[in-house]
Amino acid sequence: MADKKLVAEITSMDEDFTQWYTDVCIKADLVSYSNIKGCMVIKPAGYAIWELIQKHLDARFKATGVQNAYLPMFIPESLLQKEKDHVEGFAPEVAWVTHGGLEPLTERYCVRPTSETLFCDYYKGEIHSYKDLPQVLNQWCSVVRWEKETRPFLRSREFLWQEGHTAHATFEEAEERTQQMLNVYADFLENDMAIPVIKGQKTDKEKFAGAEATYTVEALMHDGRALQSATSHNFGDGFAKAFGIQYAGKDNQLHYVNQTSWGLTTRTIGAMIMVHGDNSGLVVPPKIAPIQVVVIPIQQKKEGVLEAANKIAESLSAFRVKVDETDRTPGFKFAEQEMRGIPVRVEIGPKDLEAGKCVLCRRDTREKIECAIADVPTKMAELLDQIQNDMFDRAKKHLQAHTFEAHNKEEFAEAFKETKGFVKAMWCGCRECEDKIKEEFNVTSRCIPFEQDTLSDKCVICGKPAKKMVYWGRAY
Ligand SMILES: [Zn+2]
Repeated sequence: MADKKLVAEITSMDEDFTQWYTDVCIKADLVSYSNIKGCMVIKPAGYAIWELIQKHLDARFKATGVQNAYLPMFIPESLLQKEKDHVEGFAPEVAWVTHGGLEPLTERYCVRPTSETLFCDYYKGEIHSYKDLPQVLNQWCSVVRWEKETRPFLRSREFLWQEGHTAHATFEEAEERTQQMLNVYADFLENDMAIPVIKGQKTDKEKFAGAEATYTVEALMHDGRALQSATSHNFGDGFAKAFGIQYAGKDNQLHYVNQTSWGLTTRTIGAMIMVHGDNSGLVVPPKIAPIQVVVIPIQQKKEGVLEAANKIAESLSAFRVKVDETDRTPGFKFAEQEMRGIPVRVEIGPKDLEAGKCVLCRRDTREKIECAIADVPTKMAELLDQIQNDMFDRAKKHLQAHTFEAHNKEEFAEAFKETKGFVKAMWCGCRECEDKIKEEFNVTSRCIPFEQDTLSDKCVICGKPAKKMVYWGRAY
């Protein structure tokens, strides 16, 4: 049976989560491998999800005054070199262009790994007076980072993202924008992707190359690993000093601008897969599902069935809906709907038709609901909302059930014998203790959460007075 085969080919997530993830990416038709090592083809089913992510996020950006622009994909080496920490952070993973046609270039160009330096170069020419501030731009583009190990969506040599870059008169304004954008990401992830997040600040060790402060939203995957889902950075005037970006203030004096950047990538699709997916495939939250409802006629050659299926689909024109009228078996169509994570399927056969009803089947819980055909549009609106909310609630419960506390080193070691989730523990603020944790337990600090707890007054590693509570975890 073709339908059995489709499902049997996914590895169980409890058996091998990594293989399950790869299987879902391929079987749900999101990606295929390309001949360029470490780069993937994002297929239509995957790209349609990205388009909806873009749509929702872009609307949120614009509501805060962001405008979109586009800068070149090449960065001259001399430009990349201008900010010392930044170049040190990115140099090991940039790709270089050395020739233009057959001619060697006098200066090599890197393919952007991120565009702070280009925006700085651009802003230097645009900003002269306080009247030119703030500058609040974003670009949707791809970037290249020459990763050694790659996985679909999570890590690839070229990936899609948006990168916002802003310039402000004061540090406080830059800080406000940095936090504002972090909140935009958290709101998007929780409300549209149904992914609960922990908001916090990165430690100095984990912060972005060249940033004064990096804020992050961290999510927990089904296997207990963390995924940094978006970041927002406050650069202070560090880049401005390196690039000479100054403006004349109301006081007629020259001042350096303060800058921010913030980004979210196609990794978000990986997060969606690993937070919501199950052993039958993807489960896509209704708000970002390219197809929200599929109508599947049963015994579609019987008189009136296909017509009824199409009528139901027409009555659902407020949603993203399709009718599967291919000649494959209903069983195959069900398995495919489950694999692709389409939130609701509508089943309609000759007997249903006679009774004036159909069956709505939720992807997330597999619950089947009988519904009068006339009531389908109203019921569908409620059901999609319900699914969206239930998916968030389940993910939130998983996050809470997999967040642990460690009060001392023994408890910390015990908690990380296996990768079960986040561990909250007190930290003295020393880089040495953070390095030790990485070395001994292969664990990194995920963030210093904005919502602090005091679990004890001592650092779990050195026993010295604790300064902060930190979320620790093993991350993708
Ligand atoms: Zn310590």
